[in-house]
Amino acid sequence: MSAELAAALARVVGSENVLVDPELIEPYVVDWTRRWRGSAIAVVRPGTTAEVAEIVCACTEAGVAIQVQGGNTGLVGGSIPAVDGDTVVVSTRRLQRIDPVDSVSGQLTVGAGVTLGEVQRHARSAGWDYGVDLAARDSATIGGTVATNAGGIRVIAFGMTRTQVAGIEVVLPNGEIVEHLAGLAKDNTGYDLAGLLTGSEGTLGIITAVRLRLHRPTPDTSIAFIGVDDYAAAMRLLSSAVAADFRLLAAEVVDDTGIDLAMAISDLPWPWPNRHRLGLLLEVADGGTGEGFDAAVLDSLDVVIGIDRLDQERLWAYRELQSEAFTTHAATTPGGVAHKMDISVPLAHLADCAEELRTRMLDYPAVAAFGVFGHLGDGNIHVEISGPAPDDDEIDRRVLSVVSGYGGAVSAEHGIGRAKTQWLSTSRSDSEVAAMRAIKRAWDPRDLLNPGVLFSG
Ligand SMILES: Cc1cc2nc3c(=O)[nH]c(=O)nc-3n(C[C@H](O)[C@H](O)[C@H](O)COP(=O)(O)OP(=O)(O)OC[C@H]3O[C@@H](n4cnc5c(N)ncnc54)[C@H](O)[C@@H]3O)c2cc1C
Repeated sequence: MSAELAAALARVVGSENVLVDPELIEPYVVDWTRRWRGSAIAVVRPGTTAEVAEIVCACTEAGVAIQVQGGNTGLVGGSIPAVDGDTVVVSTRRLQRIDPVDSVSGQLTVGAGVTLGEVQRHARSAGWDYGVDLAARDSATIGGTVATNAGGIRVIAFGMTRTQVAGIEVVLPNGEIVEHLAGLAKDNTGYDLAGLLTGSEGTLGIITAVRLRLHRPTPDTSIAFIGVDDYAAAMRLLSSAVAADFRLLAAEVVDDTGIDLAMAISDLPWPWPNRHRLGLLLEVADGGTGEGFDAAVLDSLDVVIGIDRLDQERLWAYRELQSEAFTTHAATTPGGVAHKMDISVPLAHLADCAEELRTRMLDYPAVAAFGVFGHLGDGNIHVEISGPAPDDDEIDRRVLSVVSGYGGAVSAEHGIGRAKTQWLSTSRSDSEVAAMRAIKRAWDPRDLLNPGVLFSG
């Protein structure tokens, strides 16, 4: 890094917040999956929006690329430098503003670096709740969840992150601060910039604060973890749960391989008396009659019910340990890392798609374990494969082409990152991609913000 840029960055954030030692930089240039790695000349840790703006100006003046990073829990390589050349990682974790909950509007303004878990706890302490939840809650930041339009386990009840965003503050690639945090319930004054920035994966600006919509907490809930033998049976149960007289809060699926691997890294037992290929976890808000739900299921031996908090946490653990379980297993295979893919398929085709994936992946020579888990109610499943080498893209290609064949999306909630840039055009039309590129060019003509993320070349 040039001495001028180093001095300019240190003037903005203090030298203690400019990391240049390779050992200190290391955690910022390897992603959570350990499949993706990049290089950076420095990591800068601003503590205010004004500091972010000054850093952007200093880097653009020096012609140095910026990589935005929140909690670094993203699973598509979008959080670490994707291209060769000089890059500064801007970590948002010190953007820790937390305003009091506005109890009239049911909204909350927080800095981009606040974790999802802290937002949930802060909202609950004021008698509200936040509608996004996912297993990485204590590391993922609000800025990251907005930048990726994160989904998670509550989409069936509250929608994706975009639905919860009422306002945004962002630093654009030209260093300008754009602030729109009023959170008006009605505001038809031009383009919805918060909507555009949500899901932009750090390619259009650095989000520094977000105004979130909250909701009243759900009263008590109940969970059923049901053993089933194929996706068609799981889909039938899901339809019955959707039609029944109760409020469905989550509908998640895990397969037998994933359950075995979760058991290997925890003290969880096999959940039912009998072996099953799939487990369907349904969580419902108490209060409904349940009329219309397939009652025979609940009389079966192969259902575990969770009423109190500890039992529920234990049942959720089968689902929440999945990503870590496959990562741990993959570390024991020649490939060393898990290939993780996040796809969605129209619900009508999900059973066929999942069965076809299983058949086609298990005959791939290097595969040591193949598993599927995810948000069944959203038609969103995560495919995990251990065994193949990190750069064995053929296995990813096979999965994604099966998904395209069923009219699915190659990314349901994790984003495109660097992992799926060449697949963007299979889920979006040429004219859509051209429109996206035009926006990117207009806002970031020199391609200095997150180059190599979302678009290839
Ligand atoms: C165990 C586990 C479970 C997970 N479960 C889910 C799940 O159920 N649903 C789901 O959707 N995801 C899930 N994820 C993926 C991940 O947690 C989400 O993508 C999350 O939104 C990333 O947040 P982050 O702060 O870690 O962002 P990072 O990983 O740091 O960054 C992700 C992307 O957002 C950009 N970015 C980050 N912060 C900002 C900012 N302030 N301004 C602009 N751009 C920014 C980065 O440049 C990058 O492109 C899971 C991950 C793990 C490890």
